[in-house]
Amino acid sequence: MTRIMTPGPTQVPEPVRIARSLPCGNPDLDETFADEYRDTCRLISRLLDTENETLILSGEGILGLEAACASLTEPGDRVLVLDNGIYGKGFADFVSMYGGVPVLYTRDMRHALKADELADYLEKDHNFKYATLVHCDTPSGMLNPVEELCPLLKKYGILTVVDSVSGMFGNRLSVDDAQIDLLCGGSQKAVSAPPGLTFVTLSDAAKKAMHERKTPIASFYANLCTFDGYYEKKWFPYTMPGSDIKGLRAAMDLIAADPELYDRHHRIAEATRRTLTDAGLTLYPLDGYSDTVTVFEVPEGTTDTAILAGIREQGLMLAGSFDVLAGKVIRIGHMGANANDADMEDVMAALDHTLRALGVPLKKDLLATYKDYANANCEK
Ligand SMILES: *Cc1c(COP(=O)(O)O)cnc(C)c1O
Repeated sequence: MTRIMTPGPTQVPEPVRIARSLPCGNPDLDETFADEYRDTCRLISRLLDTENETLILSGEGILGLEAACASLTEPGDRVLVLDNGIYGKGFADFVSMYGGVPVLYTRDMRHALKADELADYLEKDHNFKYATLVHCDTPSGMLNPVEELCPLLKKYGILTVVDSVSGMFGNRLSVDDAQIDLLCGGSQKAVSAPPGLTFVTLSDAAKKAMHERKTPIASFYANLCTFDGYYEKKWFPYTMPGSDIKGLRAAMDLIAADPELYDRHHRIAEATRRTLTDAGLTLYPLDGYSDTVTVFEVPEGTTDTAILAGIREQGLMLAGSFDVLAGKVIRIGHMGANANDADMEDVMAALDHTLRALGVPLKKDLLATYKDYANANCEK
């Protein structure tokens, strides 16, 4: 099978696959399931450094984003949509769908959002119920400093909704320090469980906003209040996917037992960026580099499909991108279980071979250069 080195889904380690194959009872009738669910939620909160409650929802990462907007938005609410990437902009659709008025704060996709610029903007206009932000905008590999941006919004009482589906557990994030009211995560990025689950952390302020609405939430599946009191009542709004949750628990246990997690992501990401730029390739972001995904421009004279096909022939899968970046860039996902030197060395060898075969001049041998940087344990 092709080894996936994509920015989600990622490879799934054996303990996660084994956990998913264990017998599981009836989540609706087995009282122990509520404990299993709650313990997994509590572990996630702890790993994200927050006192806030976590809820795991059955559905892909997108469900978390939609549930946030469905549960918070009332008709006519102004919502500030921080947009310097494809997911950033995408939040506007969910806001509109639930009757809100998205106000786009649009900035250059090749730069991270800047705290001082946002502060200036908010001085003039801060009448927003909540704001949406993307920690790592995966299609462009852009990492935004949400830990600087959210406190600026909170100063004006604006609730903060952050999509860190592809950032969390690759780039360190403390939900409480960053003052994030509603954080969205997913199972299939750095968490390294298969796609199928999303989870959210909810502050008291976010819960209060949901409970004090004047209009009902226009959804059942995306209504976060349906989980109210689940533990006491031993009652979930729909049958929970027991095997998926066992797998997620195993993935979180691996994260909890990995003291090198963030250092390894950073070292591998840094070695990858340096290797590609030394060889003459161009990274898409000009700053704000994520430690979970590296995005570089398709070199002149070839295409993304030709590069991806060449890589596939060598048993590996990288990704192109989509929307405004379709055909323009290649993405290497070095997050979660993908973040290991052995796989990254294979990626570099395959990329070197493929690009040269396509007539792309490279100033360095990608594999040798990567090994030098990775071994040098490069600083910063
Ligand atoms: C992957 C991802 C999601 C979830 O998208 P899916 O299509 O459900 O996988 C949401 N936000 C970001 C930034 C992502 O990278």
